[in-house]
Amino acid sequence: MSIRLPAIAAVVIALAAAGCGKASQAVRSTAPATATSTTAAAPLALAPASTHPRMRSRAPTADALPPKPPIVQSPIPFGPRRKAEMVAYAARHYGLHTYRLINPHVIVIHYTVTPDFQSTFNTFAPDVPDSELHELPGTCAHFVIDADGTIHQLVPLGIMCRHTVGLNWTAIGIEHVGYSDAQVLHDHRQMAASLALVRWLRCRYHIGIANVIGHNESLASPYHREHVPALRAQTHDDFDHADMQAYRARLRAGGSC
Ligand SMILES: [Zn+2]
Repeated sequence: MSIRLPAIAAVVIALAAAGCGKASQAVRSTAPATATSTTAAAPLALAPASTHPRMRSRAPTADALPPKPPIVQSPIPFGPRRKAEMVAYAARHYGLHTYRLINPHVIVIHYTVTPDFQSTFNTFAPDVPDSELHELPGTCAHFVIDADGTIHQLVPLGIMCRHTVGLNWTAIGIEHVGYSDAQVLHDHRQMAASLALVRWLRCRYHIGIANVIGHNESLASPYHREHVPALRAQTHDDFDHADMQAYRARLRAGGSC
């Protein structure tokens, strides 16, 4: 590994603190609200929750789905204690009493602030309080896409993961190994894998392209909900609106469901 030790320490601390990206407060869109939701009291919205023309017009069938991309199973420990902690988290933050991710409505795109997959796995695997919010269970993401395009699944899709304040109750989290939006957007192998994974997921769960969002767009999601007042304006810097417009354009160009 060519990276210097202090840099590694800084990276580990940054990820432990943030889970991804950097913490920031109340970076809100000035766009007018254009959507409402019966499940969330969102302050602002980027787009209607459901804009895909065929999104809810038919039941999913195996032959209607885009192909599932290759996925390496790299599970982190998520046993009874971590599940119980997730139930308690969901109760505190969302008023829900389950660790289960049911009928997800949102996919959140992140980058890791780590140099490789292994260091990312090592950050998410331990069930320890994060150093930013000091809560349990430990932070995680459902998928991590390495710089070479390898897709790792760390957590089953039926389980909530702590990756985005306000959206963990309904969001699939996808981390990209890297240090910036631009780095990920310019990595052709990583992007190809990301778009294939997101297309498969969103078609499987009938998630419109407007609800494939960057972590930095979390506050504008019509599905954002947060019962802890101090966290209602909390978000991170990774994948802002401009970069997600570019990401969503590529996703749209890749075809409909
Ligand atoms: Zn993030």
